[in-house]
Amino acid sequence: MVPGYAGRLLHIDLTKNIVKKIRLKKSFIKEYIGGKGFGARLMYDMVPPRIDPLSPVNPLIFLTGPVTATGAPASARDVVVTKSPKTGTFLDSNSGGYWGCWLKIAGYDGLIITGRASKLSYIYINDGSVELRDASGYAGYGVYATTKGLIKEVGDNNAKVAAIGPAGENLVKLAGIVNDLHHVHARGGPGAVMGSKNLKAIVISADHRNPKFDLADRDGFNKYNLKIIREVVRGPPEEWARTDGTPIIVRWSNDVGVLPTRNFQVGVFEYVDNIDAEVMRSFRTSKGACYRCSIACRNLTRLKDDKWGEIELDGPEYETIAMGGSNTGVGDFKAIIAWNNLVDDLGMDTISLGNVTALAMEAYEKGYIDKNITNGLELGFGNIDAQMELARMIAYRKGIGDILAEGAREFVMWLGGDAYKMALETKGLEYPAYDPRGSVGMALAYATSDRGACHLRAWPIAEEAFGDMDPFTPEGKAELVINMQDLNAVKWSMIFCDFLDADYEMIANYFNYVTGLNYSADTMRLIGERINNLIRLFNVREGFSRKDDYIPYRIAHEKMPRGPNKGFSVKPEIFNKMLDDYYELRGWNRDGVPKKGKLRRLGLYKDFFKTNIHSM
Ligand code: SF4
Repeated sequence: MVPGYAGRLLHIDLTKNIVKKIRLKKSFIKEYIGGKGFGARLMYDMVPPRIDPLSPVNPLIFLTGPVTATGAPASARDVVVTKSPKTGTFLDSNSGGYWGCWLKIAGYDGLIITGRASKLSYIYINDGSVELRDASGYAGYGVYATTKGLIKEVGDNNAKVAAIGPAGENLVKLAGIVNDLHHVHARGGPGAVMGSKNLKAIVISADHRNPKFDLADRDGFNKYNLKIIREVVRGPPEEWARTDGTPIIVRWSNDVGVLPTRNFQVGVFEYVDNIDAEVMRSFRTSKGACYRCSIACRNLTRLKDDKWGEIELDGPEYETIAMGGSNTGVGDFKAIIAWNNLVDDLGMDTISLGNVTALAMEAYEKGYIDKNITNGLELGFGNIDAQMELARMIAYRKGIGDILAEGAREFVMWLGGDAYKMALETKGLEYPAYDPRGSVGMALAYATSDRGACHLRAWPIAEEAFGDMDPFTPEGKAELVINMQDLNAVKWSMIFCDFLDADYEMIANYFNYVTGLNYSADTMRLIGERINNLIRLFNVREGFSRKDDYIPYRIAHEKMPRGPNKGFSVKPEIFNKMLDDYYELRGWNRDGVPKKGKLRRLGLYKDFFKTNIHSM
């Protein structure tokens, strides 16, 4: 077996209650590394074209990578892979915490779940043994009560739990899978897939002092790891994470005019002083970390308040502060903590939920909906009580919550007329918290992201508004986005968290110490490209093409009304120039389909034919 891997995947068929162990092949490891890469190959090969994502045949796959649980910085990760019920695309959604590390320590590189249990169930992995157990007593429970209850039930205080809340059980398309209480596989609706399988939770007991995997060169790994901790983790590249973590971005975004405010109508927020990192520090009790992560970017906060009671939270992160704060017009950090705490318990994605909440607020203020439709809620911007209640209505699909549970695109289609102008989404996934009118590369990053609008596939704003590149020109943006997407595909396969400032050389070094293979930075780059092209083939097979790589009306046609980007929009000619450049550099045709020559170079030639037969 290749070191760095437990050497096997677990396949659980919930319909038949059958468990199989599958040996990992060396060729698979060499071509796809782990995590997202494994997921891309498995999904392409296992999933018949055009299936319903909520049908039993759609697999829900949890994967780790070669560095997971090794003690490398930012390596406490796992990824869930499935066909998204939100977008119909390939979906990978990763998370930190402890749960993924426990899966690998218990002796599994991944978990493939298919079928549907006959009643609400949970999976219990206890080192060697795997059981499907009754969870019907947890029906309707929030994530916190489920997690605490199951830890007690299995009798292991150190067990780790990944669970869905009521949103997942109710097949809400914004539902995530929450592990270790506040770490969420959030985007794209994986919680709804888990709910469709009648699976409430996966509980793992494992002895972390006795992991079921080894490293090829432990001494070499330790020396290299120490060097990276000294030079990178303790050095300037990670200073922002060590000090304030992602809340620091609130101020950066507002300063450059990209902080989404009142459903992306503006890019600056008049109450930014109430929600920035300085305010967060007044609620912070300590810094926190995922399993053995030396970066420790997390902020553990505590709120004690007459209105909200006592809350202890791991967060909130930048995306939550922006999407549930400035974007809904809420300039109150206590309220954001309370909303974050509620949404984690209901088991939803704060990005998509903040986006659809702001959209509903704009629709209310502009008269598309009224109190008759909102069950009496006064849904104007800044009304946190209405925002909290709407989160519950969405999680339980009550009233207007039922259509909002489908997402922004479906809501504006339901409203009809020109309501589509208010929706901020691509491929059905709601925009995250960077307005591209202050960094045009973000428009391309969102449009070409494999799972719909996402800032974690490429984050060109780092070089544009936050860096030295002209943020308004389309020149050079295609190359920038492609380089970031390919590098991130490799990071999500190892799996490193976004916050490790790693290049291909660092990633190859870690990979070689862990596995004993001898990969160069160029080999890693090629693997990143291979993974992204294979996923594009998956999406093409599902019917996606250039028509789906779009930007929302507001970003293209409504000029920013004030702030540093006043008067600017990402006009169609700017966007189309970036997209044309992108396809050409990728080696894809003008419709966004990978060409034969490109696929031959990446070892995906046979997949070209399979894709084109099915997409005809
Ligand atoms: S950098 Fe932060 S989010 Fe990433 S693994 Fe470390 S503590 Fe977790």
